[in-house]
Amino acid sequence: MATRPKEYAAGLAIVQAAARLTEAVRLDWSDGQGVSRMQKQDQSPVTVADFGVQALVCRLLSESFPQDTIVAEEDSRPLREAPNLASLALVTRFVSLQMGTVSGDMVCGWIDQGMGTPKERFWVLDPIDGTKGFLRNEQYAIALALVEQGEVQWGFLACPLLSHGDGIGTILVARHGGGAESLSLDGAPMGSAHVSEIADPTQARIVESVESAHTNHDLSHQVRTALGITKEPLRMDSQAKYAAVARGEADIYLRLPSSMSYRENIWDHAAGWLLVKEAGGKVTDIYGRPLDWTQGRRLEANSGVVATNGLLHDSVLSTLTALFPAESS
Ligand code: AMP
Ligand code: MG
Repeated sequence: MATRPKEYAAGLAIVQAAARLTEAVRLDWSDGQGVSRMQKQDQSPVTVADFGVQALVCRLLSESFPQDTIVAEEDSRPLREAPNLASLALVTRFVSLQMGTVSGDMVCGWIDQGMGTPKERFWVLDPIDGTKGFLRNEQYAIALALVEQGEVQWGFLACPLLSHGDGIGTILVARHGGGAESLSLDGAPMGSAHVSEIADPTQARIVESVESAHTNHDLSHQVRTALGITKEPLRMDSQAKYAAVARGEADIYLRLPSSMSYRENIWDHAAGWLLVKEAGGKVTDIYGRPLDWTQGRRLEANSGVVATNGLLHDSVLSTLTALFPAESS
């Protein structure tokens, strides 16, 4: 990456600080404490680390870019409810570990800075993508991206449990038109990221969600059969799947909707999408349409996601044509 604008240094430092917070929480509960978790209205889990990261990242982003809007997954309402005040105290403790002493009110205020509405320039944050993976001590990611005029310009993905050549903990950074690079969690450069060169579908490896509620495993099995793929799929939580394609460890990321009415959240894809594109790959929805970042908090104009090394994209899409008849519009 030849030029290093302010966004690079700030984004990198912010996801590094966020990863320190999530790992502090994870190590604390691995010590036998158990993690303080709550359930959201949609029944999905949320932990003190999700809230802590959102507070920390929103605070740090607004210090560096006071004019910018932030669109993030969480809001502070659950933490302000009486049964969860102990959780708020815990979140406050973990944020204080990273930033010096802060109060619960400050933490809630910072979390709610993430309730912005997408506009011309905005940051998108998934404080912990793959919370279910985080709770299993498996893959999870802190995903931060900057969208300007409908284009993802920067993507930062911190994957504290994703290995690199020398150890565990990887950050991937992509800049629109500037390529994708890999760093260790402490910021040591690990080189650029490139997709694989596999052009023969039978040699490909698919990566997909662990959670069958988030992607249709049966249909992906049918894609495997249709393409003659013999390798077992790699299953990982979070946008670490995009990292696997961007680094050539997998060749195809399939996210096949179980329900055709589901629309993907922008924070589940923005950083990873740019990463795969800048590593030389291709990303569309299951119908081959480009992902449209101008539709608000969700990808309203898309269904599912297909990310590949580019060479395999058309083969994958042609198998999907039979499985997903065209949407009537
Ligand atoms: P993954 O780690 O790839 O399984 O994806 C985790 C993300 O899936 C979460 O951040 C949720 O926003 C998202 N999610 C929740 N429900 C669904 C669904 N029905 N289909 C696709 N993604 C979902
Ligand atoms: Mg997510």
